[in-house]
Amino acid sequence: MTSYDLHSHTTASDGTLTPAKLVERAKAAGVDVLAITDHDTTEGLLQADQAGKTHGVSVVNGCEVSVTWAGITVHILGLNVDPKNEPLQAGLSRLREYRDTRAREIASKLEKAGVQGAFAGAKKHAKGSLISRTHFAHFLVESGYAKDVRSVFKHFLVKGKPGFVAGKWAELGEVVDWITTAGGQAAIAHPARYRLTRTKLIRLIEAFKQAGGEGFEVVSGSHSRDECFTMAKHACDFELLATAGSDFHGPENPWIELGRLPQLPPGCEPIWNSWH
Ligand code: AMP
Ligand code: MN
Ligand code: MN
Ligand code: MN
Repeated sequence: MTSYDLHSHTTASDGTLTPAKLVERAKAAGVDVLAITDHDTTEGLLQADQAGKTHGVSVVNGCEVSVTWAGITVHILGLNVDPKNEPLQAGLSRLREYRDTRAREIASKLEKAGVQGAFAGAKKHAKGSLISRTHFAHFLVESGYAKDVRSVFKHFLVKGKPGFVAGKWAELGEVVDWITTAGGQAAIAHPARYRLTRTKLIRLIEAFKQAGGEGFEVVSGSHSRDECFTMAKHACDFELLATAGSDFHGPENPWIELGRLPQLPPGCEPIWNSWH
């Protein structure tokens, strides 16, 4: 049976493996079809496609786009997008510019909390790619402010903490448009991670469908088994195509590995069945 992993990150955003190394690791883990879905960029896809040919992995061109919906940040996956599509690239480029602005805001807040040099520090960890909160986390761990990335998020980077900046990302409708105009399918990433009430999650799904969204990430490395089943039920109820992805960011997060995803729960319509 074909093994799919349709959500992963590289050094083009906040992952720690280059696209080529990620594809190589996916092959070793038994993944046949791997989507590279970096935050707000398609930068890694060219290298990944080449590595896919070398290693015999089918690489799906993807991205994970940052959206602000009803005051919260939601991630929308684009699968099988054409990376040459101009409206998509213009949109992603706008988001990357905003990432720079936000990074300066995060750094100035951290400075008020006594952390010096966070912008330069995060930038160094981003190694020329876009800046994400993960890069701030790496800098803060390196500088001894926290013991690991998880505790940086908990103590510095989330709501109510000194380095928190509420994102002002793109609108849901425009992001679904960018993805579909680029020939891709949009999917709500890790829907259980937003900790929404059932009512609010249903509102999100309805807005997403209204905008032309088709997919729902039922199985995710960041979902518990129970959450996978709850999300499968929503996918069925709303006739959304189910997708599955590890959200792998690198080998230093051993709790999320490539190629170890459970099957989609029964009754789900897999998104890849629509690809022939
Ligand atoms: P950003 O898009 O720059 O706001 O960064 C979001 C990224 O931070 C996510 O994609 C995750 O990779 C990472 N992240 C968010 N929350 C946590 C957490 N609690 N622990 C570790 N990484 C996290
Ligand atoms: Mn990330
Ligand atoms: Mn995400
Ligand atoms: Mn992700």
